[in-house]
Amino acid sequence: MGKSTLFNRLTGTRRSIVTNEPGITRDRIYGKAEWRGRALEIVDTGGIVPDDKALIPQEILRQAHMAIKKAALLVLVVDGHSGMTPLDEELARLLRTTGKPFVLAVNKIDAVSQEANAAAFHRIGAPIFPIAAEHGTGVDDLLDAALAQVSVVDSIEEEKQPEVIEVAIIGRPNVGKSTMLNRMAGEDRSIVSPIPGTTMDNVDTEVTHGGRTYRFVDTAGIRRKGKTTLVAEKLSVVMARRGLERCDVALLVVDGEQGVTQGDAQIASYAEESGRSVVIVINKWDLAVVAARDAASRDAATAKGKARRAPGERHKPENFDAGRLMFDYEKMIRGKLKFLSYAPIVFLSAKTGERAEKLFPLINQCWEARRRKISTPVLNNWLKEEVDLQRGTTPKARPVRIYYVTQAKIAPPTFLMFTNQKNPLHFSYERFLENQIRGKFDFVGTPIRFIQRLRKRADRPDKSRHAAEAEDE
Ligand code: GDP
Repeated sequence: MGKSTLFNRLTGTRRSIVTNEPGITRDRIYGKAEWRGRALEIVDTGGIVPDDKALIPQEILRQAHMAIKKAALLVLVVDGHSGMTPLDEELARLLRTTGKPFVLAVNKIDAVSQEANAAAFHRIGAPIFPIAAEHGTGVDDLLDAALAQVSVVDSIEEEKQPEVIEVAIIGRPNVGKSTMLNRMAGEDRSIVSPIPGTTMDNVDTEVTHGGRTYRFVDTAGIRRKGKTTLVAEKLSVVMARRGLERCDVALLVVDGEQGVTQGDAQIASYAEESGRSVVIVINKWDLAVVAARDAASRDAATAKGKARRAPGERHKPENFDAGRLMFDYEKMIRGKLKFLSYAPIVFLSAKTGERAEKLFPLINQCWEARRRKISTPVLNNWLKEEVDLQRGTTPKARPVRIYYVTQAKIAPPTFLMFTNQKNPLHFSYERFLENQIRGKFDFVGTPIRFIQRLRKRADRPDKSRHAAEAEDE
């Protein structure tokens, strides 16, 4: 029906991620768009529908409902060529019961003459937007309609009660998420708590460790397995999304023997977008070490010549260096998951328990970083005394001045800056600032966001923030 084309149009991305596995393309269901300076989140609930109807529908419906609940505007995409179908009418009825504003996007209306086709849909009684997703015609009007629905007040995320650290274990199928949960929950597991008001399907596992309480969210989802590879892969994405909705810290589990695949990268990119803190867990390290050791000994065998060895004698891999392996491995992961450069990496084996004790302290550290609030005087002092702002400026650009900075928010830490720049700071400049902040303050595992406001030269430094903001508009 052109939903994918429309999605691509809106988000400016190529949505299908073609994997190495033959025959599998994975759709991005969630994307971001910008229109007239406003950020929009696009959710394609239709895109959530998987091939295997038996396994996922409940979760699909739940996420579709979530998306509808959060949405400012519902868009029902129908096919202008084939005319109105009973399913369209059914969906329209469903959408109307939500009480949310909804419109019809009638796709494939290319020529003016075909607009008559769109008129057939008037019966549904919702505003109609004829579009040709492929060419982008009509999409502007649709977006304007969407913006008209967005409330002017930005939603402020409720800050959570800090007693419990919420952790999501996410990752592709078979990377070891269940094994990890068992390892971490271990004997300490105290409560398995269904969240009030939901089905038994949503089960969290609470664990007390070192005097702190951790809630592993949606642990039923972790144990749920797909029947086929394709379904399992889709399920893992849907479950990751669900975990990321609620957690403070996400453990992104990767199979250390296989390395980082496109599926890992896709889940990682959702983790990044979510603003949650992230720890990258390279699991099955026991297998990775064995494989690397074997490879090393094979190399050694060819180099020195097998002839000198007695038959059946195994070559001793004296030269194998586990530390070096970790170092190289980390470099490889950093290269593939550049956007998660702030996430610490830990190598462990959930199965043997080797190095697994490192996880809890790391989660604590990320959680504390996530809630860290740097006071305004400390920040501005640091900015004045320690940051060489010109170093981050490209020679041609107008020098960036930052007059004042304040941490507006925690979880994730968000810095509000008053500058002499009208346009958004260049990506590389933002990166420079981020590195400076990270060099000074501990924000391990946690993304940092910036909000920039123009402050005119004439402003006095002692003017209040509100005054400066007002002049902005
Ligand atoms: P999930 O689908 O991500 O929950 O993965 P599972 O926890 O079910 O693990 C998949 C398979 O990998 C199982 O056979 C586990 O025993 C195995 N596995 C998990 N972690 C490790 C590990 O650290 N080392 C080894 N050798 N095997 C592991």
